[in-house]
Amino acid sequence: MATTLATPPVVPADVLARVAPIYDRVRTVIPPFEWPAFAEDIDAILRLKRERDAVILAHNYQTPEIFHGVADIVGDSLALAREAARTDASVIVLCGVHFMAETAKLLNPSKTVLIPDLEAGCSLAESITGADVRLLRQRYPGVPVVSYVNTSAEVKAETDVCCTSGNARAVIESLGVPRVIMLPDEYLARNIAAQTSVEVIAWHGRCEVHERFSADDIRQLRAGHPGVVVLAHPECSPEVVAAADFVGSTQGMNDYVVQKRPPRVVLITECSMSDNVAAQHPELEFVRPCNLCPHMKRITLPGIRRALETMTHAIEVPAAIAAPARRAVERMLAVKPR
Ligand code: SF4
Repeated sequence: MATTLATPPVVPADVLARVAPIYDRVRTVIPPFEWPAFAEDIDAILRLKRERDAVILAHNYQTPEIFHGVADIVGDSLALAREAARTDASVIVLCGVHFMAETAKLLNPSKTVLIPDLEAGCSLAESITGADVRLLRQRYPGVPVVSYVNTSAEVKAETDVCCTSGNARAVIESLGVPRVIMLPDEYLARNIAAQTSVEVIAWHGRCEVHERFSADDIRQLRAGHPGVVVLAHPECSPEVVAAADFVGSTQGMNDYVVQKRPPRVVLITECSMSDNVAAQHPELEFVRPCNLCPHMKRITLPGIRRALETMTHAIEVPAAIAAPARRAVERMLAVKPR
C-alpha cells in the first residue's frame, strides 16, 4: 500500500520571518520540516496575547513549541503558582492541567484564567475527593492534612496546607507536629517520609506517568549508556528513587543540569521535560526514555490560539470552596524554602 506524506503548510514569508528567532531556540529538538506547522499558530498567539493583555504560564511538561514558542513563564507547579500570584496581566492562559488552572484562579480571583482544554486532568487529582479527606480527618482526628497541589480545589478546601514536590519536606516540617496526612501521591509521601522524622500517613494515588518507571529501567539505562547521570522525580517509586543519582522536582532537575552540567544525563519524568531542557543545552547528551502524560498533551498550539480568540475555557471556583482552598495554597507559599 502506498503511503502519502502530508504536505507541509505554505506559510507566508513575513510570518516565518517574525517567528525565526523562536525557531533558533528549538532547532535542536524540532526538525525544520515540522516548524511550518507551528509557525502560524505561534505568530497568531503572540499577537493575541498583546491584544488580550494575556500572559501564558506553561508547565515544564508542555511540548517545546509551546514551552519555548509562546510561554511567558515556565516552571513546575510551585513556580507557576508563585508567578500566577504575581502577574499584572488581565488574562492568564494556563498551559498545563486543570488543577494548575484552578490554583491560578484561586490566587487571582478577579482575573480571567483560561485553560485551552477542560479535559486536561491528572490521575493524582482524580484519585481523591473532598469527602475522602473528611473521612481521613475522622479516622485521624487532629492530624493536619497536607495536600499536594495536584488536587482539585474541592480537596484543597479540606486541606490545612498544600505542597509541591519541590517543597513537601519544608512544608511538613514547618507544621511542627509529629504526624501528618499527606495526599494524594503515595510515592511522594513515602519518599518524603524517608527524609524526615515526621510520621507520614499516605493516600493511594499514583501519577500514571511516573509509576511506569521501574528500578530495572534504570539498570538498563546505566548498562546501555555508561556514565549516564540519572535524575528522578519524587513521584517515582521509592525503588526508582533509590536507584537514581539525584531526586528532585522538575525545577530541581533543571537546576541540577544547569549547575552540574553532566555530559550524559537522563531525566526520569515526563518526556517533554527532556526536550525542553535539551533545547537549552545542545552541548549535553540527553538519553530520552519517553513516558508521555496524556493530560498535558491535550494542550496544543491550536487549542491555545482558540482559547485566546474565544476566551474559553474560563475557570470558575465556587466562593465557598475558593476561600479555604486559597488559604491552603497561600499557607504553602508562605513557607520558606529549605
Ligand atoms: S504527569 Fe502525572 S502528576 Fe503530572 S499531570 Fe500528568 S498524571 Fe498528573
